[in-house]
Amino acid sequence: MSDSSTFEGLLETVREAALDLWHKGWAERNAGNISVRLKETQRPVEVPGDGQWVQAGVTVPDLVGEMLLVSATGSYMRQVGRDPREGMGVIEINQTGDAYRKLWGFKSDQNPTSELPSHLLTHAVRKRVSGGADRAMIHTHPTHLVALTMTRDFNTASLTRLLWSMHPECTVVFPEGCGFVPFEVPGGNALAVAGEAALEKHALAVWEYHGVVGIRPDLDAALGLIDTAEKAAAIYTVAASAGGVRRGLSDDQLRAVAESFGLQLDPDLLKG
Ligand SMILES: [Zn+2]
Repeated sequence: MSDSSTFEGLLETVREAALDLWHKGWAERNAGNISVRLKETQRPVEVPGDGQWVQAGVTVPDLVGEMLLVSATGSYMRQVGRDPREGMGVIEINQTGDAYRKLWGFKSDQNPTSELPSHLLTHAVRKRVSGGADRAMIHTHPTHLVALTMTRDFNTASLTRLLWSMHPECTVVFPEGCGFVPFEVPGGNALAVAGEAALEKHALAVWEYHGVVGIRPDLDAALGLIDTAEKAAAIYTVAASAGGVRRGLSDDQLRAVAESFGLQLDPDLLKG
């Protein structure tokens, strides 16, 4: 694990995460994007500071003055995994929270990812509900989780209940559940707004037919969160293809696992 307390250290953790996403097969072509809300010590030294302000498409008063390291549009995780200086950049949010300017990176006149509205709304809501702890967001396309959304109609409760029941680790890693976001056009504001609503209660949300968003204090934790949900979906897939899923962890077993870690599960999610 790299020391991410400096900008250079953070770039190394981004490189590792990007390579991991690529090798897992969750980031085909230019799929997937990463963003990190920077701590004071993580801000880049080489800041020109004369960038043009660009409308962000959403307004995020919670992020006024924040700097974020974000994927560039069209960037490939495969490339970022080789060199994070390719395909990443730092933006600063203005004093009214509705525009950004580029401060670092974005080679060849690149711009921030087309999913920037989702990243900004997610950082804003999670900064608020986590007391500032959540800083690192990953959007990616884990195969089993995406395939799962094609097997039946889901909502947050039914998806959470299924994932929890497939793997005891899930109740420990995401005791608050996994949000479900019905299909919206990728890169659009409707998706960003729907995702923001799901992430108010959850650090993890599955976008129907598309992918997943996870946000935690650092990239290792965000990746671990998504990894655990994807593992549960993979177990479901294997069990289903091995004759059918006839059982999984019961409510009592889920509650017992959670209680052993001092956690409480939302009874409404157990009804899913
Ligand atoms: Zn995507």
